[in-house]
Amino acid sequence: MNPLSQIEAQVAVCDQCRLRNTVINRVFGEGDSSASVMIIGESPGREENSAGRPFVGDAGQLLQKAFDKLSVRREDFYISNILKCWIPSNKITTDIKLECIPKCVKFIEAQIEAIQPKVIFALGATAMQVLVDIHSSIGKMRGKALAGPHEVLVVSTWHPAYILRCGGMGGDKTKQRRAAKEFISDFRCALDVAGMPYTETK
Ligand code: URA
Repeated sequence: MNPLSQIEAQVAVCDQCRLRNTVINRVFGEGDSSASVMIIGESPGREENSAGRPFVGDAGQLLQKAFDKLSVRREDFYISNILKCWIPSNKITTDIKLECIPKCVKFIEAQIEAIQPKVIFALGATAMQVLVDIHSSIGKMRGKALAGPHEVLVVSTWHPAYILRCGGMGGDKTKQRRAAKEFISDFRCALDVAGMPYTETK
């Protein structure tokens, strides 16, 4: 068994936190196992829980727009999350942070060690805080290459779900456009640091 399959087998039987009671499909991760860039989000959403695949819902569609904008292919990245199981409330509460993340973080660390990417593109504050081990806001830390696990650089950005929320009911379209632009510039930064080629479309 290759190292990723070994980790996946451990995730499949993990019963270390309360999320085991509600999960349908654990979302291990997918993509190129020798990718230069790993994309890491927070936790699977409802659609990912149904599909067993990361970023296949609305947040995934926004991510796909970023791939299209820079003419890169989803399959050339490895995409995963800090937590492998869906949180039914869709909220990362303090309880989940204290109980589940410490149990689950070993899996993403092992995935990073197996893949040895040049850069991790961390989506959202939770991924950034866990990977960089820092308690600062994503607004302050985004777009910078910071030291992460196994000496891999971490470039962080807004979570796609946050960008989508900005444009929702009572949202602020100007704020949303700015965050979407920053997402693309942070993604460019991650690709530049990894030395991965891209072509920006209009
Ligand atoms: N949000 C995440 O953080 N990860 C997913 O896989 C989907 C939505």
